[in-house]
Amino acid sequence: MFVNEAPPFKELSLNNYLFNDESLQLYEDYVSKTLGYIQKFLGTRKFYKGDNLEEIHENKLKARLVDVHSSKSIDKALQELNDLYINHAIRFHNPNYVAHLNCPITLPSIIAELIATTVNTAVETWDQSTSATFIEQEVIRWICNEFRFDTNSDGVFTSGGTQSNFMALLMARDHYAFENYGINIKQNGWSEEVNKFKIFCSEKSHFSIQKNAALLGLGYDAVIPVKVDEKMRMDTEALYVAIEKTKQEGNIPIAVVATLGTTDYGSFDPLQTIGKIAKEQNMWLHVDGAYGGCYILTETHEHHFKGMEMVDSVTVDFHKTLFQPVSCSAFLVKNKQHFQYVSYYADYLNPLENKDKERPNLIEKSIQTTRRFDALKVWLTLKTLGTKTIASYLEEVHHLAKQVYTNLKENSNFELAHVPELSTVVFRYKNSEAAHEPTHDDVNLYIKNKLYTSGKASVASTKLNGNIYLKFTLLNPKNTIENLLNIVKMIEEAGKQYQPKTELL
Ligand SMILES: *Cc1c(COP(=O)(O)O)cnc(C)c1O
Repeated sequence: MFVNEAPPFKELSLNNYLFNDESLQLYEDYVSKTLGYIQKFLGTRKFYKGDNLEEIHENKLKARLVDVHSSKSIDKALQELNDLYINHAIRFHNPNYVAHLNCPITLPSIIAELIATTVNTAVETWDQSTSATFIEQEVIRWICNEFRFDTNSDGVFTSGGTQSNFMALLMARDHYAFENYGINIKQNGWSEEVNKFKIFCSEKSHFSIQKNAALLGLGYDAVIPVKVDEKMRMDTEALYVAIEKTKQEGNIPIAVVATLGTTDYGSFDPLQTIGKIAKEQNMWLHVDGAYGGCYILTETHEHHFKGMEMVDSVTVDFHKTLFQPVSCSAFLVKNKQHFQYVSYYADYLNPLENKDKERPNLIEKSIQTTRRFDALKVWLTLKTLGTKTIASYLEEVHHLAKQVYTNLKENSNFELAHVPELSTVVFRYKNSEAAHEPTHDDVNLYIKNKLYTSGKASVASTKLNGNIYLKFTLLNPKNTIENLLNIVKMIEEAGKQYQPKTELL
């Protein structure tokens, strides 16, 4: 039978889980039901419900997918999800969450996510993304300008700093091989010389440098860690020596990674000196600015970016320091020609014959195929908040870190690991009664776990010279020094409570 009239909306909506043009009302219903749960989540003044093992075991069972052969109402599923997940989720925007590089996010960025997800644009080819292409390009242009990259530069959104660093090392490897040995790795694969390629970065650089070197077939050992000075910045003298030593051993130094904002200490490697060494040696210079990159917007940290003109590529994570939801990161390259090392022309997507300047295909710059429209949230954030507000947020969290540092310095219960250059403070609780080092490790771990499990505060830990330290990562500009000192008080109380051996974690 030929149906020329759509069935009534009500009938459709009874079991209409796929979004189509008749689902508008249902979309609104779902959103308003969900909003109730979200408002409750956001309105709760604790960073975490707190955890106990019994509940964790229960939740593991609750997460199981049983009885999924037939459709059920959204209400019940949302209720279950609330009990299992939302109720137990970590509130990164809570001022007592000072653990990792998770930022509170801007409202416009959340709205942009809703739009991007609902419209469901995939930014790979023009025919799928139309003007979304220009929005991504425009955000890339904006950030390239901030880094003083000229119009010959370009970039692409990635899943995060890890992927951005991967692209940097891939380009460094392939470009060096091509320029110096005429080897086309993309086309022909491996060759002898590549086995000797070495990459230099500070010992405090992110682990993704090692991991990516391994993924690129170079191996962990291709990465030479260079020691840092007392400010946790790469020692350039040591870099020079390490490069010379590598050459004497018959190996080939191809790239240096300068970290602008190390993950633990927020320290900035001296870019200008590193740049000079890299250029003298004809090496690729990559800036890992996953954490510190957005500080280019500030007045307080602008000077750390001197030497950008020597840089070949940059990693910048908007989901760390531009107050954007995960995931949101970009990879930038000074010479856009270098994207040739990743581009591929697929018959079904972007055939070479169809290359069109007016309608670009962003896939040519990405190692992903189907890709989220992550640029939209940055675009809408810039359009609404503007860069001045964002810069003031970044300066504020840096200021908070300095205040915490000053306070801890005067407190004999604490020992500091560094002077904060960005928005982290690494320190440890020193129990004056404890006789030797290992006890300090136990106490500090105890403190971190105690605060976390009670749902009072989340502080991170890291290791320095083999010892456990605590870390504040401050990314919430609405935090206050009073609140942070209150967390310090909690740390002292937990530290006092600690009893060696008798109390188990
Ligand atoms: C976080 C971080 C990364 C990794 O970024 P992801 O977005 O988590 O993949 C790389 N480098 C530095 C310096 C970082 O702090």
